[in-house]
Amino acid sequence: MKKVNAYGAKASDADLEAMNIDRRDILPNDVKIEIDYCGVCHSDIHQVRNDWGNSKYPVVPGHEIIGHVVEVGDEVKNFKKGDLVGVGCMVDSCQECDACKEDLEQYCENGMVATYNGQDKHLGGHTFGGYSEMVVVREKFVLKVPENLDTAAVAPLLCAGITTWSPLRQWNVKKGDKVGVVGLGGLGHMGIKFAHALGAHTVMITTSPSKAEDAKRLGADEVLISKDEDQMKKHQGSFDFILNTVPVGHDTNPYIALLKRDATMTLVGAIDEVDVHGGGLVMGRKRLAGSLIGGIKETQEMLDFCGEHDIVSDIEMIDMQNINEAYERVVNSDVKYRFVIDMKSIKN
Ligand code: NAP
Ligand code: ZN
Repeated sequence: MKKVNAYGAKASDADLEAMNIDRRDILPNDVKIEIDYCGVCHSDIHQVRNDWGNSKYPVVPGHEIIGHVVEVGDEVKNFKKGDLVGVGCMVDSCQECDACKEDLEQYCENGMVATYNGQDKHLGGHTFGGYSEMVVVREKFVLKVPENLDTAAVAPLLCAGITTWSPLRQWNVKKGDKVGVVGLGGLGHMGIKFAHALGAHTVMITTSPSKAEDAKRLGADEVLISKDEDQMKKHQGSFDFILNTVPVGHDTNPYIALLKRDATMTLVGAIDEVDVHGGGLVMGRKRLAGSLIGGIKETQEMLDFCGEHDIVSDIEMIDMQNINEAYERVVNSDVKYRFVIDMKSIKN
């Protein structure tokens, strides 16, 4: 066991602060990773502030981890010292249930182990995430990172990337489809890039008119301001698919009205109550769905796609010490479009 520097919160109303955490000694299947960068996801904030009511303290967040391998266990086959690697939202799962056998570890029937706030099978207590110097992870949950991309800007792909990629693939978004992405934050900006790269006619649906220009630069063909009722009316019944990244409970009805007959809107953000009027779904056989991150195999496919198509996140790099200000900006929808922590700063 080794003590390493980390940043975490000791209570739901506390700021994040420097602390020490334990990391296990490597097991035969483990990879030890020195962390170079870690993205800041809105889920980190939800967990720190106990928005979902299941946080365990201290919370050391971070599930968009990029680093390099410093040591591997005796049975590790796919990684060696020096490799550039990533770790996303999961660090383990049972590997035996139907979900795991179908490469859908995120839906493991025995419960996947989340990168932070999961149950730590090795040290007891709960897992600690990537706001730290180093992490030890089972090989199966370590991703290969394409070497041709800006390393820091790859970090958000491990959560924001896969969480938007997976539903776009699952609902078969293709060339010519009209696809909406609701919310231009960390997830939304990746949703726009991917929908565009898959050939869809991509529409950014935002509450923030000030983000319109950026949305187009990121790949949106059109921008729809959701607070403008006339604009919303014009687009009614015209979307083949909508990816909704709104981070809180909200009225989904105006967005459902945008769908064509038989089309689907998938929620990835709101993990609480949303308002849905049955009539909005019934009159048009529409579907409201949900999606959780993506499996390890699919995450690797997404990273490889990004390597081939030169896709990364648009990031603002921060030092670890500025994390509390960054959280305030995310909560105020003022992030362009993902904060990434330069983990060198944690050693200062
Ligand atoms: P983010 O960077 O804060 O972006 C969310 C965006 O949603 C905001 O920038 C804003 O965009 C829009 N928005 C905020 N409040 C809104 C409201 N009340 N009504 C309408 N739009 C609103 O957050 P993120 O990191 O992308 O994460 C989004 C959500 O996904 C979070 O709840 C996070 O926990 C969740 N998440 C889920 C998964 C999963 O597997 N399902 C994975 C990762 C994250 P505009 O200014 O453009 O309106
Ligand atoms: Zn996340």
